[in-house]
Amino acid sequence: MEIKKIGEVRSKYKKPVGPEEMKKSKSIIEIEAEYLAGLDQIEDYEYLQILFYFHKSEGYDLISKRRMGPERGLFTSRSPRRPSPIGMTTVELIKRDGAKLHVYGLDAIDGTPVIDIKPYSSFMDQPTLSLQKKTPRYQINKLIEYQNFYDLLLKAGELHGHYCPFLALGVLAAGDALNRLAADNDGMEDLLAVVETNSCFSDGVQYAAGTTFGNNSLIYRDFGKTAVTFVNRNEPTKNLRYYLKDNDFISREYPKAGKLFKKVIAERKGTKKEQEKMKELWQEIAFEIIEVETEKFFKIEEDTKIEIPDYAPIFDDHYCSQCGEKLMAVKTVEKDDQVFCKGCAQSKYYQLDGRGIVEKR
Ligand SMILES: [Zn+2]
Ligand SMILES: [Zn+2]
Repeated sequence: MEIKKIGEVRSKYKKPVGPEEMKKSKSIIEIEAEYLAGLDQIEDYEYLQILFYFHKSEGYDLISKRRMGPERGLFTSRSPRRPSPIGMTTVELIKRDGAKLHVYGLDAIDGTPVIDIKPYSSFMDQPTLSLQKKTPRYQINKLIEYQNFYDLLLKAGELHGHYCPFLALGVLAAGDALNRLAADNDGMEDLLAVVETNSCFSDGVQYAAGTTFGNNSLIYRDFGKTAVTFVNRNEPTKNLRYYLKDNDFISREYPKAGKLFKKVIAERKGTKKEQEKMKELWQEIAFEIIEVETEKFFKIEEDTKIEIPDYAPIFDDHYCSQCGEKLMAVKTVEKDDQVFCKGCAQSKYYQLDGRGIVEKR
């Protein structure tokens, strides 16, 4: 067996500090001239896996006490002291500058020999695919269980498209509630979220609690309040309502963001640059407030009086006599012994949009 050194780490850390601190730092991997050609087109990858040699590490114990918790086997730890003292970390590639790879998040000290580099592949390197198939919310549940709302917010951005304070507040309320109710959600309408607004807040709720528009467990009450009640049908009295008691904290604590919001969103007058600046500020605020205790923002009430709608019914279908399209029988309009859809009959209907529920004709 032969292992070669292909490069070396340049870091401000000459000796190890906590992994949390090192994960936040930038460092450089200097590749040796002999292997330089192997970096061709590496810029195409955002994330790389770095394998390195713990050159300062000596000896090992197969059973030992971890940093946190009781004694455990060596192969359940990331300790540098191992029979093959090899470390592996996924880093973000910031840029390549000739033989130098500038990376973010490498927890290796200055002078560490690098033995290999591979691109990170979400397909190959995501280990939970089978668990995910069995329990689609597996990863979300874990984040809620460990109260890792920061990562939960990161993921919620995939649904919402941007990061903003109200998305974070929705994630916070939902994460806190599911924890307290010890509730899981298999998307079968047992856990319900009754939201009182259709703002960004509700997307945080939908993502984190899995109570969505499509699985009929998001109940919308057109009240225009930043509030949500979580309730399990099987234990209706064990419900929790979260109401945002401090509605002005953004304009008060983040006046710059408040002003930009007024110009960019309320008045729709912001320049492209101002829009970008606002998103940047929003993101900063979102990731700041996600670390704050839920009670600071919300009035939390237990066992509120809440009327729970029935499970979504399954209706018969009919065909519209004019357009020929199939629709739920209860949504048809009868005219001269024929049935029509509301579109063809030009009859009144309700629409949920940015204004809430509005009657349309
Ligand atoms: Zn938003
Ligand atoms: Zn029709």
